[in-house]
Amino acid sequence: MITMDKLLQDIRALSLDDLKEIFKHKGEASFRGNQVYKWLWKKSCISFDDMSNLPKQTREFLIENFVINHIKVEDKQISNDGTIKSGFRLHDKLLVEGVLIPADERMTACVSSQVGCSLSCSFCATGKLNRERNLTPDEIYDQVVHIRDWANTHHQKPLSNIVFMGMGEPLLNYNNVLSAIDKIISPDGLGMAADRITVSTAGIAKMIKKLADDKVRFNLALSLHAATDEKRNTIMPINESNSLDVLTEALQYFGNNTKNKITFEYIAFKDFNDSIEDAKQLLSFCKKVPAKVNIIEYNPTGDGAFEKADSNKIDAFKNYLENHNIRATIRRSRGKDIDAACGQLANKKNYEAII
Ligand code: SAH
Repeated sequence: MITMDKLLQDIRALSLDDLKEIFKHKGEASFRGNQVYKWLWKKSCISFDDMSNLPKQTREFLIENFVINHIKVEDKQISNDGTIKSGFRLHDKLLVEGVLIPADERMTACVSSQVGCSLSCSFCATGKLNRERNLTPDEIYDQVVHIRDWANTHHQKPLSNIVFMGMGEPLLNYNNVLSAIDKIISPDGLGMAADRITVSTAGIAKMIKKLADDKVRFNLALSLHAATDEKRNTIMPINESNSLDVLTEALQYFGNNTKNKITFEYIAFKDFNDSIEDAKQLLSFCKKVPAKVNIIEYNPTGDGAFEKADSNKIDAFKNYLENHNIRATIRRSRGKDIDAACGQLANKKNYEAII
């Protein structure tokens, strides 16, 4: 006899109201919906069998009709500086990566929003992969839960910050990223503070404005890296359709309407964007949009196209900005020995197979 597995629905795609409705419809009390919801989100339970306060028949009903498409930690690596990186295997076998970055009292989770990326920034390892698919809200949420657990077990500290600086462009997976953040900040989920979350974008102007219209409470980082269209076009193809003028307008709109923090990320590339002339151009851009500048050390991705700027040049660049009243910090690379540094997340195993 041939049997066909029926396609079971991912239960975490359902809202609390959906769950309550399902139980009501079955003739059970709707509070079962609340119980299941709590197991799924607050307790990150991945097996219906473990939902110990549900009657056996209820658990069987759930097993017969639903799945919990949770992610699995694969190849966890710990760097000499305490940075922890892991691949996360998705239910359909694809891989993304997430990182825990410990720095003083801060424990920052760096999470992915897409499998691969469609933007092809020339300096980024993920940019060399195809974009396979968007992550679902629960796949994003699960990364935060795992990384929070690493902070607790390896560093005995609570997770304090989340940055969407892993694989993918978060604003091209807008609804799922926002719905994951809703769960992350909700008391029914992880209860984290919205102002400890930063979404980083290569610059999708329309979506930056939408963030403002949606009155989000998290912070925004723009991966700027060059302050003229001429230069930016050569390293970030997205700039051709989202020029600096268009981005300026969107960022002003975001800043004025939300009052949330804006950061410009600026990777310092040797002999490309590390001169005082470049700092002057960045200064005039900063005059239009109040923001802090985060100067990032370039992490070589192996293709030799760029080199990292000399540290005396980076210091001079930072000093120039600060002397002109722009707040600037230098972000030194972390987790280099395990390829966990910014822009290096490209699950090497998959990546090596395609080049
Ligand atoms: N797509 C989003 C988020 C992912 S990239 C964005 O572009 O912002 C996260 C950050 O890592 C971005 O600022 C990106 O420009 C930076 N990055 C990418 N490759 C890098 C590299 N090789 N060295 C240092 N930073 C890099």
